[in-house]
Amino acid sequence: MIVLKFGGSSVADAACMRQVASLAEAAHPKAPLVVLSAMGKTTNGLFEAAKAAEAGDLAEAMARQRTLMAFHRKAADDLFDGAVPDALDIALTDLFGELELLLRGVALLRELSPRSMDAIASLGERLSTRIFAAYVKGAWVDARTVLRTDALFGEAVPQPEAIRTLAAVHLKPLLGPDRVVVTQGYVGATEDGLTTTLGRGGSDYSAALFGAALGAEEVQIWTDVEGVLTCDPRVVPEALPIPDLSFAEAAELAAFGAKVLHPATIQPAVEAGIPVTVRHTQKPGGRFTTISAEVRTGRPITALASRNPVTVLTVSSTRMLAQSGFLARLFEVFGRRGVSVDLVATAEVSVSLTVEAEVSLKSLIQDLSVFATVEVNEGRAIIAAVGERLKSTPGLGAQLLTALGDINVEMISMGANEINLSLVVKQEHTAEALRRMHRVLVGGTL
Ligand code: ADP
Ligand code: ASP
Ligand code: MG
Repeated sequence: MIVLKFGGSSVADAACMRQVASLAEAAHPKAPLVVLSAMGKTTNGLFEAAKAAEAGDLAEAMARQRTLMAFHRKAADDLFDGAVPDALDIALTDLFGELELLLRGVALLRELSPRSMDAIASLGERLSTRIFAAYVKGAWVDARTVLRTDALFGEAVPQPEAIRTLAAVHLKPLLGPDRVVVTQGYVGATEDGLTTTLGRGGSDYSAALFGAALGAEEVQIWTDVEGVLTCDPRVVPEALPIPDLSFAEAAELAAFGAKVLHPATIQPAVEAGIPVTVRHTQKPGGRFTTISAEVRTGRPITALASRNPVTVLTVSSTRMLAQSGFLARLFEVFGRRGVSVDLVATAEVSVSLTVEAEVSLKSLIQDLSVFATVEVNEGRAIIAAVGERLKSTPGLGAQLLTALGDINVEMISMGANEINLSLVVKQEHTAEALRRMHRVLVGGTL
């Protein structure tokens, strides 16, 4: 069997859904499982409605609910030329009724817990899959019966063993040639049946988890670009498609901000040895990227990615000069405070680290201040160059730094896996830094 995952822009309206239906039909011989995201920007709309309800603005929350309802009803009407089947009509009414109840509850309490947010956010995928499954006359499976997670609402951690067992019961018997099985990305449930989500962009992750659980031959991620490109095309329009990527390169790119793949997507596929391809829904015959274990690209730099904003902490201690145990003490504090670190660069008496901008640093800094001084620089960006021969190509670092010209580099870190060179610059320099470094990548001087 194969898994086909379609992102939000691929199912944004009736015309898009027709295109997806034709791709799913073309995949019939391979017993496809179709994993869908919410339509267009629906998830954002659900978050906004929930926030309005939390602020006590029920009128605004209801207005947003009605907008979403009109949008989905129009798509269904367009798909079925006005003759929406009763079963779908009832399903949509139920789902929007559920949304209204949830929003009223949140507004009444003025409390939006991550658990309530997940219940609300799950509606995007539950709606899109209902409409699509009705259109292709496929089997609709509630992902919550299969995608078991822990109870970390908003960023739930999947449980692959349980998912495998549940997929064998609830998905496998439905799969077969000449039919389409449809389920939701992003959405899961705890053992107690509470709705969870895998975090924004999590549908890719769902697709890989389903693929691994079912022993898929391939996981296809269908989106709005011709595969993974050498850089985000919104920032560097001349970015080029990459025909093949190693698992390690893809994982590194995703982790450092290439939005085209959710960072956790690669993991289940790696473990199961399943190739992942990234394809353009509107150009199915066009170029695409294959990500697999076999690939040895051997390129000095394959692609660039960036993540911002991040915060740089520089922790210094003259008292600890040349003493052992400084790093142990330092990281013990990060571990205790649950703050995860992305990049690290060390000097004799100081260490620079980057952390997510949203992380609350107050107690961390208090703890560190017992034995060190801490300088905090917010509004920074990590720019990562990823490539298999990055470390073994002489002069590459010099070329990248030279290309940056007058853009100041505040921190440099070579990933321990040798395929990632990361630089920290001020956030406002992100786009220009990417454009300049991209010229080195495609400039033919490597
Ligand atoms: P979907 O809704 O299909 O999941 P996303 O918006 O999550 O799509 O991801 C696709 C987008 O990722 C592209 O439109 C592109 O702007 C962005 N992107 C960022 N980095 C890259 C890259 N290196 N290659 C391709 N696309 C990238
Ligand atoms: N719909 C979810 C989101 O917008 C998940 C996804 O599209 O991958 O984040
Ligand atoms: Mg995505």
